[in-house]
Amino acid sequence: MKADPAVQRRLLDLAEADAELNRVEHRRRTLPELAEIGQAERDVRAKRDELVVAETAYRDLDREVRRLENEVEQVRARGQRDRELMAAGGSAKQLEDLEHELQTLARRQGILEDEQLEVMEQREALETNVTKSREAVDAAEQRLAEVQSRRDEALADLEAAEVRRKGERDMIVKALPDDLAALYERIRAQRGVAAGLLQGARCGACRIEIDRTALNEVREAAADDVVRCEECGAILVRTGGNR
Ligand SMILES: [Zn+2]
Repeated sequence: MKADPAVQRRLLDLAEADAELNRVEHRRRTLPELAEIGQAERDVRAKRDELVVAETAYRDLDREVRRLENEVEQVRARGQRDRELMAAGGSAKQLEDLEHELQTLARRQGILEDEQLEVMEQREALETNVTKSREAVDAAEQRLAEVQSRRDEALADLEAAEVRRKGERDMIVKALPDDLAALYERIRAQRGVAAGLLQGARCGACRIEIDRTALNEVREAAADDVVRCEECGAILVRTGGNR
């Protein structure tokens, strides 16, 4: 295959554009934000789980507070009824029984009210836990959103770089003869790097020194011959200095 040396040199720009596109793709897959997002997501899940535990503990104790309130209310109502019965009068035995029951109810009410105070204090502590837990969830969600937005910015930058490079690449390819463009694409699909500058005896694509015999063949080839590196298969682009 033959191609004008100036046209062949455009292959180096094409290879550079492809290398940049590869770097963009690599950066996209290895953005540090991706790992940070994984960590932030795990953190959000953990904080949400903690909130569920705190809320459950709070609800259980809240039920206990209300159960005690009902019980105290029942004891009070019973005492009220006994006092009304006493006021209405009755036999000495009946009055004595009522008096005895009122004492029992008063003791019971005292015990229940002490218990009530205790669980109300506990409930207050659990309410604080729930509040703190909710704040922790909010903070974790905020961190996640912040990292996601940094990732989105980074992806948008990469996307812009990719669009720009693809545009350059398309222009270069369009200007190439069809057979040379096809050869380049075929080598790129098979080997990755499809063109390199010959620097001294070194191939710019694979960085390997070409052996003397092959090098002599390359040097003897006409300037418009398309020659390839025998190590990596890339098109070897020669500048005037190599001949
Ligand atoms: Zn090579």
